[in-house]
Amino acid sequence: MVSNSILLKNGIILVHDENDHITPIKSDLLVVGNTIADIRPHIDASSLDTIILDCTRKLVSPGFIDTHHHVWQTQLKGRHANDTLLDYMPRGNSTGALYNADDVFWGELGGCLEAIDGGTTMLVDHAHITHGPLHAPNAISATVSSGIRSVYGYCDTPNVTSWDPLTFAPSTPDYFDSQLADLAKQQPFGDGRVQLGLAFDSFFLPKEMVIERFEKARSLGIKLITSHYVRGAVFGPHSLVELLEAYGLLGPDILLSHASNATTNDAVLLTSANAHVAATPNTELQMAHGFPVSFRDDLHAVASLGVDCQSTNPGDMLTQMRLALQVARGAYNQPFIDVGKNPNVVKHTVESVFNLGTIKGARAVGMASHIGSIAVGKLADLVIFDGESPAMVCAAEHDPVTAIVMHASVRDVETVIVDGKIRKSGGKLLAVQGLNGEKMEWNTVAEKLIESRVRIEAEYRKIDMKSATVRIMDIFQMRPENFVDSP
Ligand SMILES: [Zn+2]
Repeated sequence: MVSNSILLKNGIILVHDENDHITPIKSDLLVVGNTIADIRPHIDASSLDTIILDCTRKLVSPGFIDTHHHVWQTQLKGRHANDTLLDYMPRGNSTGALYNADDVFWGELGGCLEAIDGGTTMLVDHAHITHGPLHAPNAISATVSSGIRSVYGYCDTPNVTSWDPLTFAPSTPDYFDSQLADLAKQQPFGDGRVQLGLAFDSFFLPKEMVIERFEKARSLGIKLITSHYVRGAVFGPHSLVELLEAYGLLGPDILLSHASNATTNDAVLLTSANAHVAATPNTELQMAHGFPVSFRDDLHAVASLGVDCQSTNPGDMLTQMRLALQVARGAYNQPFIDVGKNPNVVKHTVESVFNLGTIKGARAVGMASHIGSIAVGKLADLVIFDGESPAMVCAAEHDPVTAIVMHASVRDVETVIVDGKIRKSGGKLLAVQGLNGEKMEWNTVAEKLIESRVRIEAEYRKIDMKSATVRIMDIFQMRPENFVDSP
């Protein structure tokens, strides 16, 4: 018989108050079904058929919320460490076109499981992988199989019709509109965990068509629309926020990834519309997007964090939180250093970045009343950290939030519970269902990923990436004079 409840005994539970301040309390926590049913010292569950987890000297954290991630990219891991944004466009972004529908299933499953392994319980999947009619259904079934909570951002993906020269299809495939409508009708998937969103980057389309796409999605019941926004030399200095405002589309269901170099007017428009942004420090720092906006004074209120490409960087939020915090501190400190002074304070705190990875992520996806913090009545998306590992010992005793933000690695993520179900236990991912519903341990998923990677790599080697890059510059109307060796 499958137990319907889980009792976390004697853990250090991180509880948010209404001002987003976190207090660690020593307590028991009872999960019934998919919900946190009780938080109290000494809960007696002897009358219930309950799984009991001894959490003595362990930290119980809200699950992390990653608000921008291209989950399909697992097979591309390791390729982009030294790539600029322009390198990545043909070598990463466009090579989704080499994936068949099975590749998508394994890539997506691998990406979701890496996220869970690191303590992410919810992510926004900007799924620019709709290269065939089975791609999105396979991606969604892999997401369901993994057990993660997700908004699957169905994406009008530019389909590659030729690699030599690189050419994209002039319009969306025939099945796009009907598939979007069908998926919207069928959602949510996976017992309510996986909702449909829209990932939209086709702002080159005429105004009426953009408006029509957004209105169509909203009329289909889609609750979140996400778009990339990087102001700069690559994609130009124009403001996507002002365009959305001018089109009458800006609202609380809009989530912009990066928002790098957003103008002060952008920040005013975004905050007044209660729209949100997802900073992804690793790619932004590497690919010259600009400093992450997560701690910008005028955007911090609507900011959250994401992983972006797990092909470039780790798929866990611990890495992104730490990077976001330290780069913001560095940027704050430098003007003092430049004039021979020293700042009196460390400007940004571990608590504020922990919130970017939890409760503020929940706000960005419009789900703050259900996820993002630990409270009775909220959904049971929980991460249990080992407090006695070599990295965590003493830090966990002294300050649990610091222990997680500054000391924890994926190794210290001992147990992950999503929607009341244990998905990682004793430091190991639990079995999932494969492409045909068969039960599968992680090592078998890894074998499938390696097989899939070999097939994709063989196709990849046939492509002249140099000429593809030139074509990308042309297609996206990038200005060659903006790409230089020194400023
Ligand atoms: Zn992205």
